[in-house]
Amino acid sequence: MRALVYRGFNDLRWEEVETPVIGPEEILVRVRACGLCSTDVWKAMYHEAKPGMVLGHEVSGEVAETGSNVSSLTVGDRVAVFHRAECGACYYCKHGDETLCSEYRQQSIFPGAFAEYIRVAPRLVGKSVIRIPDEMTYEEATMIEPTACCVRAAAKIGIAPGDSVLIIGDGPMALLNAQVSKTAGALVILSGHHDHRVETAVKLGADYAFNSNKTNLRMNVLELTGGRGADVAIVAVSSTEAVQESLKLVREGGKICVFGDFRDVPQPSLSLDLKPVVHSSVSLLGSWGCSTKDYHAAFNLIKTGRVRVMDMITHRFPLDKFMDALKVFLGKKCIKIILHP
Ligand SMILES: [Zn+2]
Ligand SMILES: [Zn+2]
Repeated sequence: MRALVYRGFNDLRWEEVETPVIGPEEILVRVRACGLCSTDVWKAMYHEAKPGMVLGHEVSGEVAETGSNVSSLTVGDRVAVFHRAECGACYYCKHGDETLCSEYRQQSIFPGAFAEYIRVAPRLVGKSVIRIPDEMTYEEATMIEPTACCVRAAAKIGIAPGDSVLIIGDGPMALLNAQVSKTAGALVILSGHHDHRVETAVKLGADYAFNSNKTNLRMNVLELTGGRGADVAIVAVSSTEAVQESLKLVREGGKICVFGDFRDVPQPSLSLDLKPVVHSSVSLLGSWGCSTKDYHAAFNLIKTGRVRVMDMITHRFPLDKFMDALKVFLGKKCIKIILHP
């Protein structure tokens, strides 16, 4: 089969590799679509990937082969594959911190989803592979995982119906956070720097969206929240300035979720004024990844149309044109890019 192999910085090649051989508890999935995630770009750009590695994780496809002990899936099933699974039994899992489980972080799809086929580890077959309905496209199914990360963040930060939620950022994760916050019954305000993304946010259901380069965001937020500030802010960009800014945009007693990945900020020079955290009782918390439960919740949100992802997909590339996709990604004229083997 072919896979997109990382050979070095700016050097990813669509080349011939061994087709994975599955064990009795495993399945082989023919990849049909895979989302390009900022973490893939980050790994490729910041030397985090090791030569020989195959990136890609937001994946869907068709079951091509099942191990002799697998009865829950059949060849030909259309599936979404979550590339992780928590153990469910360790200290972290028992305390609702599944994404900190040591098993969770282990590689479980081989060689990686930017390939024609993936081998899916036994732990995933039971709980991380979902058979998708005919009306769900493979492209939609790739968006379950990023949506699930937003489901988790919303649950962690505790969004209640009627809450005002400010999303800082206008990338795909910001737009998904906006939609997930809406499903929780929030009034959603989004702030970004790109007109086309800000407009898309409104189309997808954000109540208000601003290009903060062109308007006074703080004034707008205060006006929309009775002069108090937002109940919740979700910072969906990797920017310490944005975190600092969010402290001025939430109300006293408000909550801030640091959601941006921050790994593309090698050494964030954070000078945060923490006085409001103490004196205004503002809560600051992080959210990373999603559990299998979040993944199933996100699947239902997309299946029922409460989170709309197709309008977010602006570009599609075959995997052998990955370098072109990367250029478009870095140019920020896109929202979500989907790759097809
Ligand atoms: Zn991702
Ligand atoms: Zn665990």
